[in-house]
Amino acid sequence: MPLPCPKKQDKVVWIPSPSGSFLIVQTLKHLNLHLPSPSWTHLVWFKNSVPKYSFTLWVAIQQKLPILNRRCTSHINATICYLCNSHLESHDHIFFQCDYTKPLWSFIQSRCGIHIHPNSWQYLITWASHHWRNNNGFYSNSVAKLALSSLVYNIWMERNRRIFKKNFLSQNALLQQVLDRIRQKLLSSQLTDSLSSRRIIEEWELPASVIRPPAKPPDSN
Ligand SMILES: [Zn+2]
Repeated sequence: MPLPCPKKQDKVVWIPSPSGSFLIVQTLKHLNLHLPSPSWTHLVWFKNSVPKYSFTLWVAIQQKLPILNRRCTSHINATICYLCNSHLESHDHIFFQCDYTKPLWSFIQSRCGIHIHPNSWQYLITWASHHWRNNNGFYSNSVAKLALSSLVYNIWMERNRRIFKKNFLSQNALLQQVLDRIRQKLLSSQLTDSLSSRRIIEEWELPASVIRPPAKPPDSN
C-alpha cells in the first residue's frame, strides 16, 4: 500500500460522484442504481402523463391513500365511505366495490376495451402492469393509463371535496369531468397517423386535427 504523500494535503473524495465532490443528484443516482423498479412504474409515469394524476395513482397503488382501512389497522375510528355512506372505506371499496364508483369504472373499462372484471385494486394493477407494458398498440395503452390515472385522481378528489367542502358531484357529473379531462389531454397531444390513433379519435370523439400530418419527404432537387 503506497504511503500518503507527506507534501500533499489529504482530501475527502465522494466516490459515487465522477468529480469526487458530493452532489445530491449523483448520490440519488447511486442509490437508485441498486433498486429494481416496481413492475407498475410504467402505469404511473409515461409519455403524456399528467403529474397530479400520476402522483395520486402512485400513492394509491401502494395503498397509502389516507383512507379507512389504514386507520382501522391502527385502531383509530373507522370511517364510512363518503361516496356511498354505507360501507367502510378501503382501497378496494372506494375503487371497486362502491356503488358510486362502480358505474364509472364500467364505463371507462368499456371505453378502453378492457374486458376483465377485477375484484380488487391489486388485481387490476397486476393485470394492467402486464398487459399495458409492451409497445404494441402504444396509443391504446397510453390512453388506458391516462384513463386509469384520471379516474383514480378524480374519484379521490370527489371524496375529499365531500369531506372538506361539503360539495357533491353526481356520478354523471363526475364521469363527464373525467371524460372531459382525458379528452383535453388527448387534444393537446399530437398523434401520428395509424390505425390505433384513428380508433382513439373515433372512441374519444376527437377532431382529426389531433393527428400530426405526415412529414414531408426531403426535397429531391
Ligand atoms: Zn362507497
